[in-house]
Amino acid sequence: MSVQLSDEDRARFGDDPRALFTENLREIQARIDAACARAGRDRSEVRLLPISKTVPAHILRFAFDAGIRTFGENKIQEAQQKHEALRDLPVSFAIVGHLQTNKAKYLARFASEFHALDSHRLANELNRRLEREERDLDVYVQVNTSREATKFGLAPEETLEFISELGAYPRLKLRGLMTLAIFSDDTERVRACFQRLRSLRDEALRINPNAQGLSMGMSGDFELAIEEGATIVRVGTSIFGRRPGSDAHYWPGLIPER
Ligand SMILES: *Cc1c(COP(=O)(O)O)cnc(C)c1O
Repeated sequence: MSVQLSDEDRARFGDDPRALFTENLREIQARIDAACARAGRDRSEVRLLPISKTVPAHILRFAFDAGIRTFGENKIQEAQQKHEALRDLPVSFAIVGHLQTNKAKYLARFASEFHALDSHRLANELNRRLEREERDLDVYVQVNTSREATKFGLAPEETLEFISELGAYPRLKLRGLMTLAIFSDDTERVRACFQRLRSLRDEALRINPNAQGLSMGMSGDFELAIEEGATIVRVGTSIFGRRPGSDAHYWPGLIPER
């Protein structure tokens, strides 16, 4: 299928988005390889989850050509539209951002992974909707490892009890924990967030042996995350370029100002 590029597309992704994404992916893969080597980890332990939020569906066809098969999105409506638009391609969608309970029904229809589970209310509603759709969902419990009031996620001390109660939702398949580290130039503070998630995960494994996953690390900190045990790194900007309207202070996963 040939895709026509608008002037806006060209301004953002250049004349050859397929080549751009291919090159960016190659670079990220090399950096993941190097981080694994430094940490003495097997490369197969780390999965790259490209985060394609704000990238239009027709541009994602180039990302597919570059080899991407799962797209991470943080807004349910945007993800659903892309799912519809790309129905002819064998791709899946991971929702990585906070979800309002009243949107659970949309997620249940098409998403294959959810990286921001943080309440019983949401777990219950997702389970109920998945039951109706006769689908299962891989979930990661979001933990607020930096304890910032602006971030979603369970407090670290609430996490293990929450995990021990997830058996009540048989359609939710627990795969691990997820976090957004503090946004800071101080790498030791960032690293502490990843270490907190990892030690919680180690404890969680005693409750549920399927909770091995550590979804942590983004464009600015994924190498650090890999050093601390990440099994999934969620990378957007370094693959797709800067998002329109994003500035140096932009940080995903923040609670919108009211
Ligand atoms: C946008 C987003 C990412 C990717 O962030 P980049 O800095 O663009 O790599 C990762 N995780 C979540 C939850 C996001 O919303």
